[in-house]
Amino acid sequence: MAKSQNFLSTLVGSFSQGAADNPTVAMEEAAFRHHGMDVRYINCEVAPADLGDAVRGARAMGWVGFNCSMPHKVAVIEHLDGLGESARIMGAVNCAVRQGDKFIGENTDGKGFLKSLMDVVDPAGKRVVMFGAGGAARAIAVELALAGASAITIVNRGRDRGQSLVDLLNRETKAKAELTVWEGDYKVPEGTDIVVNATSIGLFPDLDARLALDVATLRPGMVVADVIANPPKPRLIRDAEALGCKAVSGRGMLVNQGVIGIKYWTGVDVDPGVMQDELARIFDA
Ligand code: NDP
Repeated sequence: MAKSQNFLSTLVGSFSQGAADNPTVAMEEAAFRHHGMDVRYINCEVAPADLGDAVRGARAMGWVGFNCSMPHKVAVIEHLDGLGESARIMGAVNCAVRQGDKFIGENTDGKGFLKSLMDVVDPAGKRVVMFGAGGAARAIAVELALAGASAITIVNRGRDRGQSLVDLLNRETKAKAELTVWEGDYKVPEGTDIVVNATSIGLFPDLDARLALDVATLRPGMVVADVIANPPKPRLIRDAEALGCKAVSGRGMLVNQGVIGIKYWTGVDVDPGVMQDELARIFDA
């Protein structure tokens, strides 16, 4: 007797502009293949005016979730049915998750970072210095604060963006946040436990770009983390390792947000090593 077969895959995907440069599809499909999961990730170029239709389409086609990248992370919220705690505080969503007939917005940028950081240090009770106040910085700072970081100094070039993140942290979380406007080489204060680069400085192809930072103030034992996923060891990470700091690369953040998204959508814990290898094949070969 013929065996019954299922030709209907589980669908997830991504809506963004500049979708052709986004490696998430390759990374996630490598994990699906490795684990024998019948899931497809559809990477879609979506203009802002079409975002509502794209979300309605995902709903109509039974997608179990989707990522949202630039420029849709804020605009997507009005098309969703609810928000997770950190996404609500940040006001930004990069991962929508189907729950029954609802799409709930989550933000895995900061959660991916936190998972990487936790391999090295638990931020509870720790003092953090963070460079940058854009989307990645917002996501990371909120997750660090929710994870119990006691103090967060935001160091940013633009005062307004920096102040708005500081106000958000002080209003919505228990962390004590303050702003330093970034002028000249920043000196990391003594007593700092964790230093985070959440700017785009160091991103490929500008391999030797350096943060305006007095690296002599990075002390052995400090944790130094970067959001830059390509190259895997940007200059800050190389400097930090040479000085005896514990380094956390942005490659792990990218992989972990994929792992967390797949767990939200399918309930499966995939092997991060497979996704790490796929990114190395794409970026570093
Ligand atoms: P945004 O444009 O939202 O923010 C950029 C931030 O960097 C701002 O705070 C900006 O300061 C600061 N900045 C940029 N250039 C300089 C400079 N030359 N000197 C000082 N400050 C500077 O970008 P995102 O937050 O979305 O992304 C930041 C980086 O994070 C990107 O490189 C992105 O690739 C990476 N990222 C990595 C992820 C991962 O999974 N590894 C996930 C998401 C992002 P100002 O306000 O003064 O302009």
